[in-house]
Order: sequence, then C-alpha cells, then structure tokens
Amino acid sequence: MAEVLIAGGGIAGVATALAVARSGHRVLVLERNAEFTELGAGIQLGPNAFRALDRLGVGEQVQAGAVMVEALSLMDGVTGQRITQLPLTGEFRERFGYPYAVVHRIDLYSVLLAACRSHKAIELRTDAPVRDYRCDGKEVSVTLASGEVVRGDALIGADGIRSTIRAQMLGDGEPRVSGHTIYRSVVPMESVPDRLRWNTVTLWAAPKHHFVHYPIAGGKFLNLAATIDNAATEVVSGRPVDRDLVLATFAHLPATARDFLHLGQEWRTWVLCDRDPVRRWNDGRVVLLGDAAHPMLQYAAQGACMALEDAVCLGDLLAEGDSDFTAVFERFTAERAERTGWVQEISRAIGEQVYHPAGVAAEERNASLGAHTLTDLLDLVDRLYREPVPSTR
Ligand SMILES: Cc1cc2nc3c(=O)[nH]c(=O)nc-3n(C[C@H](O)[C@H](O)[C@H](O)COP(=O)(O)OP(=O)(O)OC[C@H]3O[C@@H](n4cnc5c(N)ncnc54)[C@H](O)[C@@H]3O)c2cc1C
Repeated sequence: MAEVLIAGGGIAGVATALAVARSGHRVLVLERNAEFTELGAGIQLGPNAFRALDRLGVGEQVQAGAVMVEALSLMDGVTGQRITQLPLTGEFRERFGYPYAVVHRIDLYSVLLAACRSHKAIELRTDAPVRDYRCDGKEVSVTLASGEVVRGDALIGADGIRSTIRAQMLGDGEPRVSGHTIYRSVVPMESVPDRLRWNTVTLWAAPKHHFVHYPIAGGKFLNLAATIDNAATEVVSGRPVDRDLVLATFAHLPATARDFLHLGQEWRTWVLCDRDPVRRWNDGRVVLLGDAAHPMLQYAAQGACMALEDAVCLGDLLAEGDSDFTAVFERFTAERAERTGWVQEISRAIGEQVYHPAGVAAEERNASLGAHTLTDLLDLVDRLYREPVPSTR
C-alpha cells in the first residue's frame, strides 16, 4: 500500500482522495486553509458528474440534496423571447442515464468530505500549505510553508487555478484574466414570489453579458449569477459588491430577468480566469488534476464535473495495480488531457458565440439554435455528458 500525497482539499482534492483510497492506497490531503470548506454558491452538475459521483460511492447522497431541474432554457436577453429549451427529463435521461441537476456547492463538497472522513485510509490535514516538491525515482517529498518535510510515494497537485505544484512543474506563469466579471447572490426561496419559482436553469444572453438563475439546496434558495465582459484586468475573488452597481450594470435586461435580479440583496464579485490547454501534467511521480491542470471558464458548467471525472479515471488506473506511479500518471494525462482541453476551448467559445454575441451574430444564433429539434440539442451536448471513452485501456 503506497502513500499518496494530495496538495489541495477542494472538490478535486477530496474526490481524488476518495478515488485513490478506494483503489487501495493510503492518502494524505494537505490543505493550506484552516478548515476544509468551499466558498461560493450554486453549481450545475451534468450527467457525467453524477456518473463519476456514483463511481465514488456518493452519487445517491449528492442527488438527495440536489434540485432536479426540468430544463435548460436559453432566453434572448434583448427581446425577452425564448431561443431554445432542452428538457432534462425523458429522452435526456434515457440517453445519458443520469440527471442534470443543480446543487449548493457546499452540499456537494460536504458529501465528498464526509466520505473521506469515514475512510480509514484517508488523513486530512489543515494549515498545511505546500511550498514546493522534490521527486526522484523512488519517492516524492513536499516542503510545507512551516519548513516541515512530508514524504510519500506520489504527489497529486489538486491545488487549484493558482497551483504551486503547477508553477514548479510547468512554470507557465499566471492564469489568463478573461476580462469577464461575475456577480453572484443567493436568495432564500421564501422571498421569491410564486411566479418566479422556475424549476429550470435559465440563461438570458445579451451583448457582452448574460444572466443565469436556478434553484439550489433542495429548492431552499435561488442562485443568481450575472456576468459582463467589461475587460476587467484585476483578479478579484469573492469581494462583496454594491447591489446598486449590479442592478445598474444589468438594467437593460428584459423586465422578467430584472425581476429575478432585483431579488438579490447581497452580492459578491469574481473576475474569471482560465488557461490554454496543455498536454503535460506530470513530472515523474507528481501529477496535476482539477483546476490545477485544466482551469476553464464556467460557461459549459464543467470545471468541477471534469475534476470528478479526473478522480475516477485516476482511481481506475491505480486500481489496475501498476505500482509505477510515473507510468500511471503518464497514462492518466494521455486519457484526460484531450477531453479537458476540448472543454476548456468550448467553454470560451460558448461565451463568445452563444452567450455574448450582438446584432447579426445574435440573430444568427437565435435562428440556428431556434431551429434545433430535441435530437439536435441532445447531439450537441452528447460529447460533454456521455461517459468518456478511455483511450489507453
Ligand atoms: C463562478 C463560477 C461558477 C462555476 N460553476 C460551475 C458549474 O456550474 N459546474 C461545474 O462543474 N464547475 C463550475 N465551476 C468550476 C468549479 O468551481 C471548479 O472547476 C472547481 O471548484 C475546481 O476545484 P479544484 O479542487 O480543482 O480547485 P479549488 O476549488 O481551487 O481547490 C483548490 C484547493 O487547494 C488549496 N490550495 C491551494 N494552494 C495550496 C497549497 N499550496 N497547498 C495546499 N493547499 C492549497 C485551496 O485552499 C483549495 O482548497 C465554476 C467556477 C466559477 C468560478
């Protein structure tokens, strides 16, 4: 039984801890913060995420706290007309075998964390910021900010978009600042009038901005997220922001969208970042996954879904019994980099071509998507939600 170190205890870190422990290894998760937790609000999970969660043994618990939304609706944020709608029941469920649902981020995380806590092969350590790593043919060690050295047989860098492990491994600098600013708010459902209790993920697409809303936490809250491409250059993460600024920024949305927006009382803001895809995620016994490997804009709602797929893929490879971590990590990268690179790219493209176009480009989007049949729409999302086919097994 090998000892696997994981730097970072976000969604990727705890999901991977579970997958690695279930493959028969001991795991030590090193989290820099004083507690294991998740910030932020709602998160959409595609069928691929629920398939992965089932494989990790926690699918039912996550589904229990999720809202099974009925449809994904795309609205024209200028005219107020519906462009298209993808029903998430019937044929969608038949084709993909798992639901599309929305959860509060902490609900997903808590289930994964509880499963880690009850697995005897997993140790969770807080206040343990990893400063750097050393790796040779036999073992790997990390130095914590305190100077303490921790040794293991392999290291997984699950330390997010500003990964310390990636910086040392690839040295490819800071993430790309997208220039897009997102404002988010969570509203108790008691304060939402009945006419606005829509059981859908609804997105209003308008020139250089869009607005999404959906219920979360078993329907107890409404999640609001409004994004504008305002060429922001400063990196911001979760800073409180004035409600009036949000309302003024999105004042030109149609009346119904504004009714939703006005429900938000306390708002926080982020400036979104991502990176170009890369094909190298490992350095001998050290490998990257989750946002450390493939950070993406949230427009395909797939960052966490990809991290869950990563965890399952790595667990499967380790379960095959190969004790050569370098070889396993090379196979993992070969299996995952193409798919996640494609999702990084389509996430940018969806923003430009579907959510933010103006004028003729917006009219063309409406005409094209509006003409799609249900089968066309299912075909469009097929590669995203279908089980990824392993390329090296
Ligand atoms: C606005 C927004 C909306 C999104 N919506 C969706 C969605 O609907 N669906 C979806 O699938 N995804 C969504 N995502 C993406 C998703 O949130 C991320 O892809 C996912 O949370 C990444 O998880 P992670 O564990 O890789 O990284 P993080 O969540 O960044 O976790 C990294 C962890 O590592 C720790 N850490 C960092 N450095 C160190 C160090 N040196 N030593 C030790 N610990 C360290 C951090 O404290 C943190 O706990 C969204 C993202 C954003 C910004």
